[in-house]
Amino acid sequence: MTMIRDKSRTAFRRANTVLVGGVDSPVRAFNAVGGEPPFIAKASGATITDIDGNDYIDYVCSYGPMILGHAHEQVTTAINKAVRKGTSYGAPTELEIELAQRIVSAVPSMEKVRFVSSGTEAAMSAIRLARGATGRDKIVKCVGCYHGHCDAMLVQAGSGALTLGVPSSPGVPAGATQDTLLVPYNDANAVAAMFQKYPSQIAGVIVEPVAANMGLVPPAEGYLAALRTVCDDNDALLIFDEVITGFRLAYGGAQEAFGVTPDLTVLGKIIGGGLPVGAYGGSERIMAHLAPEGPVYQAGTLSGNPAAMAAGIATLDVLREGLATPETNPYTLLQTRTTQLANGLRASRDAAGLSEKVQIVQAASMITCFFSHCPTITNYEDATTSNAEAFKIFFHSMLDAGVYLAPSGYEAMFVSLAHDAQAIQATVHAAEHAFVAAAPFA
Ligand code: PLP
Repeated sequence: MTMIRDKSRTAFRRANTVLVGGVDSPVRAFNAVGGEPPFIAKASGATITDIDGNDYIDYVCSYGPMILGHAHEQVTTAINKAVRKGTSYGAPTELEIELAQRIVSAVPSMEKVRFVSSGTEAAMSAIRLARGATGRDKIVKCVGCYHGHCDAMLVQAGSGALTLGVPSSPGVPAGATQDTLLVPYNDANAVAAMFQKYPSQIAGVIVEPVAANMGLVPPAEGYLAALRTVCDDNDALLIFDEVITGFRLAYGGAQEAFGVTPDLTVLGKIIGGGLPVGAYGGSERIMAHLAPEGPVYQAGTLSGNPAAMAAGIATLDVLREGLATPETNPYTLLQTRTTQLANGLRASRDAAGLSEKVQIVQAASMITCFFSHCPTITNYEDATTSNAEAFKIFFHSMLDAGVYLAPSGYEAMFVSLAHDAQAIQATVHAAEHAFVAAAPFA
């Protein structure tokens, strides 16, 4: 039975009169899957509720920040307490020190931190700092990795071999991407070749240590370590964009999980507990290039916003408190539940006869179901073998069964600590039908 979403339909119509495409971020639009997005009234734990009163088990989790689940008591209390004291001062607060101290002790490569208001701003600023600190202009980026929408990163491979990027959006001048060099993900040799081609010109390599914006693509064995070596060999900076993986893969992020230390780290999402935040940081030596200590300029009216700092502190405290015992370790709990979900999804896929047509990839508390024949997805080229039509059917079947997935086959499902065994079971049950429905199209 199809869910009734009349109020959402009306809201979408209203939204379209004043918001572009009815949404404030194109990833929320249903263009890739067809139909119209439900409008959300509230969320609690693993559940979001639309304005028609339909409940969904939420695997979008705001695209990552909600690792504790929605409206976590400790986080909402901290936000309430903070906003009662004012919402922005344009002057330093102790909350910024508190959150920075937590980040610095969790992520040792970040000796100093700068807070900003989004992941985009953090990545953009980290790139500027890398360029300013090295005196070099070129940045190596992997095809399919997303680092926000700053001009230099809105780039696609030009025709022919992957080398110089060309803008992937109108409005981005060719000059803004002329120093962005593109390589395939999971190919350290391609990065080494760039350093050979542009000796002493490359400031750094930016990478998602676990790629999660072309669907979930984990790093191949030794890939991140090889990037570290090639950057060291060429006096260039390794930048990990941990906007998704930070405090999700492990408390110390992907760099803890894989034991590879970057020079600069970009954070967002979880460190803001659901409020707008980004951060970047690295060694004292590199960060000293940043204004006001150094000449590299970057500023922000709402940077280190007290409500966002309070939400981040509360979120990290809940995670850290859980680390005290093996039974409460949030990362073990998340891993266990996500593995149950991945195994359940694989069983449902197999029962629908799709064993060879759907690849279910898991990394810690994230999963992507690639509707692809490609047995191992290692880069963007592999990821784009996905069958959009089959995903569309799967997506709508899940949505109508009360499971909210991102409306694109190139996103990850995010599992939170609020996703209990019952939620996982209900999701797997919904997937049994959804895979069957998608099978004729796969
Ligand atoms: N970097 C990565 C890896 C991301 O996944 C995102 C957003 O999804 C960003 C940067 C940009 O963050 P924001 O959307 O907060 O600007």
